Amino acid sequence: MISAKTRIAGVAGAPVRHSLSPLLHNAWLEASGIDGAYVAFCPPQDGFDAFAQGFRGGAIAGINVTLPFKQQALAVADDFSDLARAAGAANLLLFHENGRIEARNTDGEGMMRALAVQAPDYNPRSGPAVVLGAGGAARGAVAALLDAGAPEVTVVNRTLDRAEQLAQAFDSRVRALDRADRAAPEAVVVINATSLGLGGGSGPDLPWSSVADSVVIMDMVYTPLRTEFLAAAQTRGLTVVDGLEMLIGQAIPAFEALFGQAPPLQLDARRLLLNALGQHL
Ligand code: NDP
Repeated sequence: MISAKTRIAGVAGAPVRHSLSPLLHNAWLEASGIDGAYVAFCPPQDGFDAFAQGFRGGAIAGINVTLPFKQQALAVADDFSDLARAAGAANLLLFHENGRIEARNTDGEGMMRALAVQAPDYNPRSGPAVVLGAGGAARGAVAALLDAGAPEVTVVNRTLDRAEQLAQAFDSRVRALDRADRAAPEAVVVINATSLGLGGGSGPDLPWSSVADSVVIMDMVYTPLRTEFLAAAQTRGLTVVDGLEMLIGQAIPAFEALFGQAPPLQLDARRLLLNALGQHL
């Protein structure tokens, strides 16, 4: 039931029709009995600023932000969380009643939650991390790994320049390479934050014979759920973490911020999303 008091939130992207966020947040709202609704917005590519400015003052509670607006979302905000500032991108905007817009980035938190769920023995402090890719998701990953105590993070990207720029935005704990060979043997976790594997193509290159038996392999891509990268890791008996768990992990703090309470645990979010994707693990 939509009432005159319904609290509205949503997700903004272009395109946005593929987004699973409305399904997940509305299921959580229904299970919690909250008078709220979560909708999808597709602002014009060059119109994100005007779109977001229109919500100043709290016409709606906030929006999750997805491609291609994550950097513009940061630019429109007055206040930033440390992780959003470090990542240089926001995936959540909150429209406060005092007129201020607050930017947060829960992607990194989602990644850490996914690691905690599917690789519970992984301890970020225990050794170096390797992040494949240097886009927005990789930035969020680096910020979250450092925040969690990773002693060193190597960013590996086909465009070395971009990896170097990313590394320079942090401190000497972050270094840039264009191949994973040198970093892979000492890594305790390797995370695919490139778009390689999206839609079923080949995953990123990793010298599998040189990685440790105890390394954790994570893929941010979740369509398909069992990417080639994760399949290769599973063949070698390695612990794997998938992008769907990260999607759920980033949505939990977003729901709390948008609707003021934690999502209901009794709802099996993973099953809901797997059904929507028509996939099973
Ligand atoms: P960006 O477009 O910002 O970055 C893409 C990255 O992939 C770049 O590092 C790019 O390298 C690299 N890349 C693309 N094509 C190739 C290729 N053919 N060979 C080598 N490298 C390539 O995307 P995002 O950072 O926003 O997202 C990255 C991935 O993470 C996407 O698949 C996205 O769906 C996923 N994601 C998942 C989330 C989840 O909740 N599970 C949340 C956020 C993102 P280069 O710089 O050289 O172009």
